Amino acid sequence: MKKIAIIGFGGAGYSAAKEVRERDPEAEIHVYSDTDLGPYNPMLTTYYVKGAIPYDAMFPFGSLEEAAGRLGLKVHTNTPVTALDPESKTLTLAGGTKAQYDGILISTGASAVMPPIPGLDLPGVFKMRTVEDAVELKKALDGGQIKSGLVIGASWVGIKIVEDLVERGIPCTLVDGAPWIFYVAAFEQTAARAQKDLEAKGVTVSCNQMLDHIERAEDGRLTAVMQGGGRFTADTVAVCIGVRTNTGFLKDSGLEMGRGVRVDGHMRTNYPGIYAAGDCCEAVDIQSGTHRNIGVWLNAQQQGRVAGANLAGGDETFEANVLVNLAHYLDYDFMCIGDVSACQPTDEVYEYEDGRYYIRAVRRGRAIQCINIIGSADSNGLIKNAFIKSIENPEAELDIKTVCFLQEKGFPEPFIKFLGGKTLD
Ligand SMILES: Cc1cc2nc3c(=O)[nH]c(=O)nc-3n(C[C@H](O)[C@H](O)[C@H](O)COP(=O)(O)OP(=O)(O)OC[C@H]3O[C@@H](n4cnc5c(N)ncnc54)[C@H](O)[C@@H]3O)c2cc1C
Repeated sequence: MKKIAIIGFGGAGYSAAKEVRERDPEAEIHVYSDTDLGPYNPMLTTYYVKGAIPYDAMFPFGSLEEAAGRLGLKVHTNTPVTALDPESKTLTLAGGTKAQYDGILISTGASAVMPPIPGLDLPGVFKMRTVEDAVELKKALDGGQIKSGLVIGASWVGIKIVEDLVERGIPCTLVDGAPWIFYVAAFEQTAARAQKDLEAKGVTVSCNQMLDHIERAEDGRLTAVMQGGGRFTADTVAVCIGVRTNTGFLKDSGLEMGRGVRVDGHMRTNYPGIYAAGDCCEAVDIQSGTHRNIGVWLNAQQQGRVAGANLAGGDETFEANVLVNLAHYLDYDFMCIGDVSACQPTDEVYEYEDGRYYIRAVRRGRAIQCINIIGSADSNGLIKNAFIKSIENPEAELDIKTVCFLQEKGFPEPFIKFLGGKTLD
């Protein structure tokens, strides 16, 4: 009987466990988790904070008992793995116990970055990644004492906290150290449009503001003091300045690492029988051909499934690792697909704006480099597929079904042609 260990029980760990169980009913599957919670979806935490979903809805696979019972797992709760010897496939657990396995998946995800900046530990300063973070922020907001909010970090998590505040009628300021919002994914022009639309909803936005420290006054109000001398005062501050992969326990293990554990298309590490999936890993980005950490829910699930299949003796690959970011906030949708930083001044640019869409896309020859779209929530999947096809084969034309769908959704014909489609009368 095969003995398999899964380290970390989020979306990636759960998908892997499910796949192993479906393929190998006899396998002994041990799950090591540093919490006693069931696998949850961190992207639902801000929906819980604003009261849009109940607590249990953050756990899409049911409670820990339900998930473990359904898949026949031995779950070791509150048992972080502190070291891994990949040669002998041995885990060291908190407390020093060791356990050996035939196959191991590392699916330890990522954590919110809280650098050693003075004041980040003050009461009223929050971060957002875990269920515990969400419970804490919701409790504070439900208390009714918070009359103003400051969000530091104008990216995918920060914008969701802005939504939580604005929908409660709490005036909110959003600041970022970068020159424009959504800096890692948006063209400057897209960001300008998104900022204007955000300001129209009552949010104050200020960029080029690098945090120096946070102070707390006697009345409990917090002031974020910026390196350039700017000061932003509010009743609460949310710090959303990025994530770090939970891979510290693998230091000196011999596993190949970048920002996360490096894997090939099979989700294999450089040691046989050891796999990694989800936010803790760096798979090969099909656009650049280099390893890249792309922390999104769909990747975590798909990579977990592929790793699970291979742990159970299969031969599957994950081939859709592309940079994609979707933000849905305040009845607004923004998608960025592809690598904005790879675009060059000599590339061809397509830009379009009407009451419904804002589009900025860049291609080199016929290969699309990056697309920013505002307002296309119900077409994002198809546009992502068109982008992937353009990378795989820049000369290929869009299929008729996609062209018809995009026409039906009111996308301009030059954009459909830019994506490689022939428009139909
Ligand atoms: C606020 C927010 C909004 C988001 N919005 C989106 C979105 O709109 N779209 C999208 O696609 N994605 C979004 N994401 C990202 C998405 O949630 C993640 O990509 C995905 O959940 C990653 O799953 P995972 O299983 O790799 O990691 P995780 O969910 O982080 O799970 C890893 C688990 O491993 C545990 N662990 C860590 N170290 C150890 C150890 N040493 N031993 C044992 N256990 C350990 C962790 O505590 C955790 O429980 C969002 C995330 C956040 C926080």
